[in-house]
Amino acid sequence: MLKWVIGNWKMNGSLKEAHDFAEGAVKKLPHVSSHVMLGIAPPFLYLSGMLGILRDTAMMVGAQTCSDRGQYGPYTGDVSASMIKDVGANFVIIGHSERRSHGETSTSIASQIACALEAGLSVVLCVGETMEERDSGLAKAVVLKQLESSLPKHAPAKTEQFFAIAYEPVWAIGTGRLPMPEELSEMTHFCRQIMKDRWQIDIPVLYGGSVKPSNVHDVLIASKASGVLVGGASLSPEDFFQLVANLP
Ligand code: PEP
Repeated sequence: MLKWVIGNWKMNGSLKEAHDFAEGAVKKLPHVSSHVMLGIAPPFLYLSGMLGILRDTAMMVGAQTCSDRGQYGPYTGDVSASMIKDVGANFVIIGHSERRSHGETSTSIASQIACALEAGLSVVLCVGETMEERDSGLAKAVVLKQLESSLPKHAPAKTEQFFAIAYEPVWAIGTGRLPMPEELSEMTHFCRQIMKDRWQIDIPVLYGGSVKPSNVHDVLIASKASGVLVGGASLSPEDFFQLVANLP
């Protein structure tokens, strides 16, 4: 079975760090099993540089968001899915909680997904509950609503486009806190089931939140997730590839 490791740099890194990561990856990639799908999502500005180095490798490069307003137009500051595709990237992370908490709504997330799929990009859709929602017993209801309100009716028709869900409890992102093993497996199973009911196919369900080289093995065994979405531990090629080496 394929295992996924996708890195999300958020608003971190520099031109030099992007270059060094890509050069480091070129050296490490030949030692990675072909059953591992790897992706990295740097800030927009570093996409082209990293793609230039990683273009002929198995490492996918993607963006952290895309415009919800179509592919071209008078939208100052927006970057469209077509532009992301045009520079050679192949996926986009959509609906990260750090963007939801800055005003992204399920309507805009649904539009971003539509734009991404139209442009030929693959999608990693992030969902997850806050601590208050979990404490109120609402974790599943929140995740269900996030999925139902933003997913297209049908799975992407093109086989070269993947669609993955990243279950990321907001309270576990960047905090060093992890859900209990049974919470992990319950929620990833829940996401997988929703997607199966909706699209009648199995899609990758990743876990994200404080995953590091030291805990990735246990997290994946406990969660039965298809892989991980990694923030802090994706910033250096050493950490990123140590995490890959420690996959179960
Ligand atoms: C994330 O931002 O998606 C994430 C999982 O971050 P971290 O690994 O740093 O918790």
